[in-house]
Amino acid sequence: MRKGHFVKSISAFVLTLSMVVLPPAMIAQTAVKMPKNKYKVQDDVKLGQKASSQVDQQFPILRDAQATQYVQRVGARLVSAIPPQFREPAFDYEFQIVNASDINAFALPGGPMYVNRGMIEAARNEGEMAGVMAHEISHVALRHATAQQTKLNNPWNQILGIGAILGGAILGGEAGAQAGQIFAAGYFLRYSREYETQADILGAQIMADAGYDPRDLAGMFQTIAGEGGGRAPEWLSSHPDPGNRQQKILAEAQRVEVSPNPIKVTPEFRRVQERLRSMPPAKSMAQIQQEAERGQSTGSGGAMSGGRYSQNVPLPSARYRSYSVGNWLRMNVPQNWREFSGQQDATFAPEGAYGDQGFTHGMMIGVHRGQSGQFNRDTDEFVRGLLQANGYLRQQTGYQNVRFAGRQGLAIQLAGRSPIYGGTELVTIYTTPLRSGETFYLIAVSPQQQAANYDRTFRTIINSVRLNDASL
Ligand SMILES: [Zn+2]
Repeated sequence: MRKGHFVKSISAFVLTLSMVVLPPAMIAQTAVKMPKNKYKVQDDVKLGQKASSQVDQQFPILRDAQATQYVQRVGARLVSAIPPQFREPAFDYEFQIVNASDINAFALPGGPMYVNRGMIEAARNEGEMAGVMAHEISHVALRHATAQQTKLNNPWNQILGIGAILGGAILGGEAGAQAGQIFAAGYFLRYSREYETQADILGAQIMADAGYDPRDLAGMFQTIAGEGGGRAPEWLSSHPDPGNRQQKILAEAQRVEVSPNPIKVTPEFRRVQERLRSMPPAKSMAQIQQEAERGQSTGSGGAMSGGRYSQNVPLPSARYRSYSVGNWLRMNVPQNWREFSGQQDATFAPEGAYGDQGFTHGMMIGVHRGQSGQFNRDTDEFVRGLLQANGYLRQQTGYQNVRFAGRQGLAIQLAGRSPIYGGTELVTIYTTPLRSGETFYLIAVSPQQQAANYDRTFRTIINSVRLNDASL
């Protein structure tokens, strides 16, 4: 049993452009307000540093001085156009190229930013590339990562040190989430539509101030649509009003002062683009992720890799210890189960039952942030992610209504031949909704042969779980 990954499809904008033409000088640019944030500026910096050291290890960073320096120059030009009220001296905007084919870019809190090689290759001019970067810079300047945590109030992240925050990508949860799969699911932040709009508006203002045409940011959506247009209907069905974002950028372009001769195709842009296109083709983020998964287990599994599987796993102790996460989660855990804390979860397993392929006896708990925000659908999404990550498992039952953590929940059973010990593994997943709209889950895992012993243990654990998210 290992942690699941949640595949989200690449999306694209397909829309009709409608431009509202307004006399430029008559309307002031849209006022952007810094969202409420209970975290310190230094929290953004620390989070970004921690995450960027992981990104540097796990993503293929393109080590090409000419291309990287070019992206850094464009970045510096944009950073110097950040409005004074959003300049934060503690932030350090740094730019690197990820050797991936997807048209995407993402930024981490405090400034580290990653631009995919595929985006530079696909951009029709420097303005399109700069547009995506300006959008990402805006997420950083407005401190969206910690602002969103302030709003979500995810207790898991608070307790575990909000290690789970990474900046959203230009396409938010859709294509952006692809990159997130490299880490434990949910590692990448999906920003609210409100924040995406904010980053588009401020991004358009920064672009204009830096000598670009904000319409090129809107144009980049067209370029993306051109690449992934075939899958657009799926995206359209889950996002009402997709044209809104592009229209708002075009409207903002009417409100700001755009240079009569904006930066478009520069000789340097052409040179770097040619240079990148002449390199061996880059892998997609999905390919990179698959390879990373083959090479290592993810989530709390990483910490378990020191373990060795044994034929003689000790039965769960009849004595329990109390396990708690702050004051929002309390439960009983057999005394002889070790704890492994991951980014978004914790696993408990006895000696001999964990290793680099996950765990064979024990349980995992955690919080899943689903795509839909609807409990039933998010539970199903979570279960499908687990089935994908554990190809040997099959669904045994439908969803059953159960009491879990003293409230309404769902339970479902999976089973399959364990690739570790060859016998039948039973997996039961319990979920219940949190006030934040996220899903709390508990996954109970045991060999079928020892089901009788483990049933009693799991019942005791399930009955002991108390969630206190109402107090947050
Ligand atoms: Zn964004």
